[in-house]
Amino acid sequence: MFHYRCTDCNKTFDIKPNVMLCDSCGPKTKKNSPLLGVLEVINSNHRSSLDDIFSFLPLEKQYFPTLPVSNTPLIRPERLINDLSLTNLFIKNDSNNPTGSFKDRASYLVSAFAKCNSINEIVLASTGNAGSSMAGIGAYANQKITIFLPKNVPEGKLVQSLQYGANVIMADGNYDLAYDLSMEYSKIFGGMNRNTAYNPMTIEGKKTVSLELVRDLGQEPDHVFVPTGDGVILAGVYKGFADLLSLGLINKIPTIYAVQAQFSCAIHRALLNNGIFDYQNSTTIADSISVDAPRNGFLAYKYLKKYNGKTIIVTDDEILNAQKILSEKTGLFIEPAGAASLAGLLKVKDSFKKNETIVLLATGNGLKDTLSATKKITKPQKLIKNIAELK
Ligand SMILES: *Cc1c(COP(=O)(O)O)cnc(C)c1O
Repeated sequence: MFHYRCTDCNKTFDIKPNVMLCDSCGPKTKKNSPLLGVLEVINSNHRSSLDDIFSFLPLEKQYFPTLPVSNTPLIRPERLINDLSLTNLFIKNDSNNPTGSFKDRASYLVSAFAKCNSINEIVLASTGNAGSSMAGIGAYANQKITIFLPKNVPEGKLVQSLQYGANVIMADGNYDLAYDLSMEYSKIFGGMNRNTAYNPMTIEGKKTVSLELVRDLGQEPDHVFVPTGDGVILAGVYKGFADLLSLGLINKIPTIYAVQAQFSCAIHRALLNNGIFDYQNSTTIADSISVDAPRNGFLAYKYLKKYNGKTIIVTDDEILNAQKILSEKTGLFIEPAGAASLAGLLKVKDSFKKNETIVLLATGNGLKDTLSATKKITKPQKLIKNIAELK
């Protein structure tokens, strides 16, 4: 009922753990460029129903760890609703996942995929959240997790992975080096590779957010804001809505806004440049969306073109302001990448009608990177011993 299809040449494949990229297109991937031959899961199960989200997934429920991943809260942020005069604004709080980020949706499916195939080691490169996510879910499921991290990984995410007991290897360089090392490691030592976009289950796992949105709202939203780095969340969000559209369960694909940081916006540039990806070094405080060569760039671009999606670029300062607004007005402490969706909304809010349904994805917990969060606050300088000193 489920199979893979190459997003470049449409060749189909059976779902097997040793099949990752299309064997004709994948090897044509150029250095410093998005992956070619990314595979997507095709669902020909026409009995899928929103009463049972597992019915949309290519693995039996019995293989999934029994910890509560996904089904995150959909919040109506009353104070923001008033401030922005947007009556149907919602925040999907994925920082509520077990390890504090959206990445758990993908790790959950990858964990089940490895288990179903009796593979006990999972290997990946990560900027931080994918690694700590796989480490936590792997800890629960009793799987060995090996993570390659860039040397500038935020402390919280490193500590979190080590706490979960993962085998952590530090690359003397950036995420791209960690990525290459993880691929080599998998070739030599085996295990399942969970690299984002490379393992098709990473996209498939992330689609569940759209299914939950439609289930919880009772219909599709009009607009969804998605913080975007490698473009896997973006493709997952589209995939979920596309599955629902093909089953006649929604009427249209919402307008999706890929929000990127000003100096890490490869997908935005490609959209302006007819799908051509140039290579630039990225810098942004939002480490989870700091990406030089977006692994899933080609598929993200295809989806944006097909469904008339938009890109929005935001500065680091706008991201940090949005982070502060979220904390202050909604009680949600969200890491900078996750707050980028609000920063994006603030740029285009005047183009919306008051009652359109708008969803912001809040993708990661603020406690993962407290250093960034100190930029917009002042720590108390003075120590007191006596309450009289307060005047
Ligand atoms: C990974 C991540 C993103 C971006 O997802 P991509 O699939 O790389 O585009 C956004 N926010 C957080 C918190 C993340 O961990």
